[in-house]
Amino acid sequence: METNSSVRVRFAPSPTGFLHVGGARTALFNWLFARHHGGIYILRIDDTDEQRSTQESMQQIYDSLRWLGLDWDEGAIIGGDYQPYVQSERGEIYQRYIQKLLDSGDAYHCYCTQEELSQMREQARAENSNQSYNGKCRNLTVEDHRKFEAEGRKSTVRIRVPNQPVVVQDLILGETKVGPSSLQDEVIVKSNGMPLYNLTSIVDDIEMQITHVIRGADHLNNTSKQMIIANALGTEPPQFAHLPMVLGSSKGEKLSKRHGATSVDQYRKDGFIPEALVNFLVRLGWSLDDKTEIFSIDDMIDNFSLDRIGKSGSVFDVKRLEWLNNHYILKLNLAERTSALIPFLQRDGLLEDKIADEELSWLEKIVESVGDRLTTLADITTYARFFFTDDFDYHPKDVKKWLTKGDPVTVLSGVRDTLLDIENFESETVGTKVKAYLDGLEVKRIQVMQPLRLALSGQTFGPDLFAIIILLGQEKTISRINRLIDYISTTGEGRVS
Ligand code: GLU
Repeated sequence: METNSSVRVRFAPSPTGFLHVGGARTALFNWLFARHHGGIYILRIDDTDEQRSTQESMQQIYDSLRWLGLDWDEGAIIGGDYQPYVQSERGEIYQRYIQKLLDSGDAYHCYCTQEELSQMREQARAENSNQSYNGKCRNLTVEDHRKFEAEGRKSTVRIRVPNQPVVVQDLILGETKVGPSSLQDEVIVKSNGMPLYNLTSIVDDIEMQITHVIRGADHLNNTSKQMIIANALGTEPPQFAHLPMVLGSSKGEKLSKRHGATSVDQYRKDGFIPEALVNFLVRLGWSLDDKTEIFSIDDMIDNFSLDRIGKSGSVFDVKRLEWLNNHYILKLNLAERTSALIPFLQRDGLLEDKIADEELSWLEKIVESVGDRLTTLADITTYARFFFTDDFDYHPKDVKKWLTKGDPVTVLSGVRDTLLDIENFESETVGTKVKAYLDGLEVKRIQVMQPLRLALSGQTFGPDLFAIIILLGQEKTISRINRLIDYISTTGEGRVS
C-alpha cells in the first residue's frame, strides 16, 4: 500500500434528506482513497441551503456513515484543525473570501431586479445563447452603486468569468474544456448575504487543504465555476475526480425511488448488513478485474485506485445486493448471526427485549435450522415466525393443494400417535420412528410431509421438518397437529376425494 499522508479528501453531503446510496458510494470511494494512501478523510456538512437543511437529516447521515463503518478523521462532531466543518458555522470565513474577490475586482455587486433578469433570460433564449446574464453590472461606477443603494435595491455578488476556456483535468473522465460561451458571471452571494454552494465549496476545499475532490459526475458543471473562483483567489484548485452516475436501470435513468429503496437507512431497516452494502457499493463503478465480486474491507483498501473506476454509469442491481447480503449473512458465525437477527425478531413482536440464556441457545438452534435461506435479516420472520407464536393461519392455496386430496386426517393422526409414543423426544428417535411410520404407508411421503408442515408452521416451506419438530417439542407439535385435524374436521377440508 502506498502511503501519502498529504492526501486529504472530503465527503460533503447536504443535509436535506437521508443518506442516498449514491452519496454513500461517494463517501466510500473517498474513504477508500484516503485509507489506501494513508491520508485524511473529512466529513463536511454543506448546509448552505438553510431552508432545506435539517438537524434530523444531519443525524441520519452520521448514523448511516457510522453504520457503514466509514469513520472520519476530521469533520462534523469530532472537529479538527480546520473546524468548524459545518458550513453554516463558517460565515466569517466566506465573508473574508468574498471581500478578497470584491477587492481584486474578480467579483462585483449586481443590482439587477428580478424583472431585468427575466428579460435577459428571455433574450438569451431568443438568441439561443447559454448566457442568461448579460453582464449588465460588470462595470458599475461608484455613482451607480450609490444610486442603486439609494433606490433601496439589494445586490447579489457575481464572479467575473474570464474570456477564455476553463480546462478541467479530471482523474476519471479525462480533460473537459468549457468554452467562454458556456460560462457566465454566476451569482456567488445571494441578495440576503448568503454565499452559495459554488463559493463555499471551493473556499472550504482550499481552506481545508483538500487535495482531491471525489464526487458524483452530476457536479461536473460546477467544477469549472469552482475552478474560476480558485484561480481568481490565486490558489491551485484540488484535483478532481468525477464518479460515473449510479443508474436505476440499464436504460440509463438516474437511480430514483421508482427503482426501489434509495436510502442507506432503509437498507439497514430492511435487513441488509453493512459488509454487503459496502461490497455492493464498491462495485458501482470500480472493479479490480473482470471476475472478483467479493471484497473484504482490507482487500478494498489495498486495491483501491481511481484509475480502476470506469467512465460509464453503473446500474444499481438490487438482486446482486441481495446475493451479496446472503453471502455475508452466511459468513457470520451462528452466535453473530443470531445476535444480528434478534433485533428483527423483537421489532416484529416475536421476542421480548430481554433474552434469557436458555432462550439464546434455543434461538441459535432456530437460526441454524433456517440455514442458508436468509436473503435479508428481516427474512427471519418469514421462515421462523411460527416458532414464536401459535397465531398463524393456513394459507388457502396450501389448504387446497394439500388438504383436499387423500386422507390427511388419517395420516396426520398416524404421525401424531407415533410422536405421542416416543418417550425420549430427541432428534434421532423422532427421525427413525416417523420415517418408519411413513415407510409403512401407501401414500407418497410428500402427502404426509406437507400437511404436517402446514400443521406445525402454517406454511409449506422453511426449515427441515424434523428440526421443526424437535425445536417445537413434543407437546406443541402434538397440539398443532390436533389443531389442523380439528380445522379439517370443522371446515370439511380433506374429505373431498
Ligand atoms: N453538497 C454537495 C451534494 O451533496 C456535494 C458537494 C461536493 O462534493 O462538492 O451534492
